[in-house]
Amino acid sequence: MKKPKPQNAAASSAKSASRPRRRRLARSKYTPDELREIFRRFSVQRPEPKGELAHVNAFTLLVAVVLSAQATDAGVNRATRELFRVADTPEKMLALGEEKVGEYIRTIGLWRNKAKNVIALSRRLVEEFGGEVPRTREELVTLPGVGRKTANVVMSMAFGIPTIAVDTHIFRIANRIGLAPGRTPDEVEENLMRVIPEEYLFHAHHWLILHGRYCCKARKPDCEACVIADLCRYEAKSCDVPAPLVELPPQVIG
Ligand code: SF4
Repeated sequence: MKKPKPQNAAASSAKSASRPRRRRLARSKYTPDELREIFRRFSVQRPEPKGELAHVNAFTLLVAVVLSAQATDAGVNRATRELFRVADTPEKMLALGEEKVGEYIRTIGLWRNKAKNVIALSRRLVEEFGGEVPRTREELVTLPGVGRKTANVVMSMAFGIPTIAVDTHIFRIANRIGLAPGRTPDEVEENLMRVIPEEYLFHAHHWLILHGRYCCKARKPDCEACVIADLCRYEAKSCDVPAPLVELPPQVIG
């Protein structure tokens, strides 16, 4: 059946102006088969990628991720080793107080503000969530110091809910090779969640970070060492022969 023509052009354009415009995501440059092959190769290289932030439960993971903004995972782990020994629940953290928390994390950048957030989020967990870390992104981002990226990491690592926390490496790769182009981290995240085959979604976040950190680097991608060099659509790539597909030794993510 043919769509009826708009009766009057002015009315129709007024209508479309008042309608919220749907954002169109740029298309991936890869076919579903190519996407499956890309992530299959990543899965052979790194069958069990893991985050490096030390934690003993969902709460300490949440605190560690909040502390890791603009800090290395190794630096955060050094500071939290003692902190988590005395405070591994929101109640204990609250009892410790902001000043004491600050003493434990003094070696981490922006520690004053982070100590404040750790106490504020512990208080909110106790008062609003019965001392438990919530599982949904909507609830997590209501906690002080917790943005979408932190929420995604916690959902994935603590609760096994597949998410993509778009960091600088993932943002670069998604756009550079046209995997899931987007102008903002949110657009890239939405696009990646759409194009990554479901069976690879859980580890995709770590694979992409590691690929960006060790191979598809910011300044000069190491295309000769790249296992997807034949599939890659980056025009300036320096090699189109894929590197041998072998399992790599464990590498640091943070
Ligand atoms: S071939 Fe080069 S540009 Fe393409 S993904 Fe590999 S390292 Fe990155």
